[in-house]
Amino acid sequence: MKQRRQGKGVVYLVGAGPSDAELITVKGKRLMEEADVIVYDRLVGSSILSYGNNEAEYIDVGKRAGFHPIPQEEINKILAAEAEKGGKIVRLKGGDPLVFGRGAEEAEYLNAQGIAFEIVPGITSAVSVPAYLGIPVTHRDMASSFHVVTAHKKDGSFPDISYDALVKGGGTLVFLMGVHTVKDVAEGLLKSNMPPETPAAVLERGTTARQRKIKGTIADIARKALEEKIQSPAIILVGQVAGEEQMEWYDKRPLAGKKFVVTRPREQKDKLSALLREKGAEVLEAPTIRIVPIEENPALDEALEKIADYSWLVFTSPTGVRIFRDYLKKHSIDNRKLSHLKFAVIGQGTAEKMREWGFSPDLMPEVYDSRHLAEELALQVGKNEKILLPRARMGSRELTEILERAGIQTADIPLYDTCYESLPFVDPEKEFGEGISDYAVFTSSSTVRGFVHAAPDLDFGRVTALCIGEKTEEEARKAGMVTYTARRADIESLVLLAEEMEKQ
Ligand code: SAH
Repeated sequence: MKQRRQGKGVVYLVGAGPSDAELITVKGKRLMEEADVIVYDRLVGSSILSYGNNEAEYIDVGKRAGFHPIPQEEINKILAAEAEKGGKIVRLKGGDPLVFGRGAEEAEYLNAQGIAFEIVPGITSAVSVPAYLGIPVTHRDMASSFHVVTAHKKDGSFPDISYDALVKGGGTLVFLMGVHTVKDVAEGLLKSNMPPETPAAVLERGTTARQRKIKGTIADIARKALEEKIQSPAIILVGQVAGEEQMEWYDKRPLAGKKFVVTRPREQKDKLSALLREKGAEVLEAPTIRIVPIEENPALDEALEKIADYSWLVFTSPTGVRIFRDYLKKHSIDNRKLSHLKFAVIGQGTAEKMREWGFSPDLMPEVYDSRHLAEELALQVGKNEKILLPRARMGSRELTEILERAGIQTADIPLYDTCYESLPFVDPEKEFGEGISDYAVFTSSSTVRGFVHAAPDLDFGRVTALCIGEKTEEEARKAGMVTYTARRADIESLVLLAEEMEKQ
């Protein structure tokens, strides 16, 4: 566990990118992982927030109840006050912190207060949102410059934009903060003699599964934006490049346009999220449970002392393998102590974890669940052989019951507890009630229970659950969700299930 608040306070003004969780810089992600405090507002994609460590304190300076944003002066004071307490303070901002992000105001304030700060640039929406929608801001044949312009003034009024100069410049024009000003922008350009047939596009919620491109010309883009009910955040893009038609790529991937809420605990979510993202999906990581290893474990100590009495070591999850392995390491127990044992695993994921550790499983059932594992063990374990079964404290009783019935001696040793997480950055009501997310993905029945615990008031009939196996599905169905189950109980089959659903 990391030490809290070491050293003098430093504020890092970090660009989070346009929303896609993977469009943050390596440096930005590292600072998130190390941060003691993370100060964020609404533009930041919630998946990026989950990069923070378990210990970090999160401060939301976005819109509060009553929908009034926290005044800038107050945000400045919060940053200074946190820096006074020491440690690493990450001030996370959408896109790049210095492109219309008021990062300059915060840096100036910190400087005046004598507080150390660093600036970590981010990928600005001005270029990345067009890229995700197939528009290059420059092009050898179409545009040799681009201008990033605000369509919104500090006091909320329309800014004095020098349209004449912009039109004369002949480059691509990118207007930020312009949802309500498309009409004014188009009129301003027309008045300055921009040809009415000049291509224009409004780019909404870029780099998310819900991204949209409304195409037109400066003569009709305002009407189209209105018809399409454009929502914030959106960019207005004007110039020949807006007519580009050969560069669309986003929607060509099998899971593009689909958003998945992945509920696995932090330690395990990476592989599933990576596979889904590879297929083009947007992934919101929302761990609903946390794995807490049992640090002082006399039952396990005793079993390890008598390990020579056991013939089989059985694991029912990759987490079990990881925690058992860490326990041996922590207590300086040599792996050779296990060399007389046969190993059984519940499925492919657990088998992989064993192989990483340097052991090849001797038994894995055809169907990856407790019942099949128990039945297979009942067939293969000899009369005088003993099983060591280190696993979750609340492990399935079915497994031990079948073994008991078969007269096999089993030491069922708790290795870890499963606790619920509170989902601080996820609004399940918004994700599923308003249909922003398409699927919730569950890799164990405990992740379903954690989800239900975190969102007790949700109408679960609106949740489409992709479940790893029967037990998990049963739990999701009990909660009222619409459920689908993977053909095999592994991560790859879950991703395949998602793809099959989208093909239909
Ligand atoms: N610093 C940010 C811009 C902050 S101003 C950056 O570099 O991107 C906020 C404006 O950025 C929004 O009103 C919108 O015009 C634009 N914007 C930010 N994220 C966006 C997204 N994902 N899709 C479309 N526009 C976005």
